[in-house]
Amino acid sequence: MTQELLPCPFCGHLDPEMTDDAESIKWWVRCLCCGARGPREEGEGNAIAAWNIRADLAQVAAQAEVERLRTLLVEERTENLWNAYNTGLTRDGVWTHMLMSDGEWLADECGFDCREANFPDDAIREAIPRAALRVLAVNPPKDQETA
Ligand SMILES: [Zn+2]
Repeated sequence: MTQELLPCPFCGHLDPEMTDDAESIKWWVRCLCCGARGPREEGEGNAIAAWNIRADLAQVAAQAEVERLRTLLVEERTENLWNAYNTGLTRDGVWTHMLMSDGEWLADECGFDCREANFPDDAIREAIPRAALRVLAVNPPKDQETA
């Protein structure tokens, strides 16, 4: 085999199969899992190339979608943390939001002692995107596992 077949672009099945007609004139790749078929081509190499072009496009699209969702999550998390910080109240001279779970986490990111008050806004603003990214580090995208 000259070239390896990429996984099925529709169901992700890792082992698509080369097929030919009775006279071995036309070749195509098919997925035994979902029934997807590549274009009928003259020659095995052309069938592989045609299948892989489609599979490659699917992978690029999937990666772009993962990136888009990752960006959305970070933006949402950043906004939520910043809102939580800004709506915090002082109690006995301590920012109460810094004593709640997100606050403790954020204070840790900023290198602050969360029992103290008066955190510099700039330092917190700078730390929030890092804190938001850590959310994603806990759940790495699935594409790290396959391959
Ligand atoms: Zn399939």
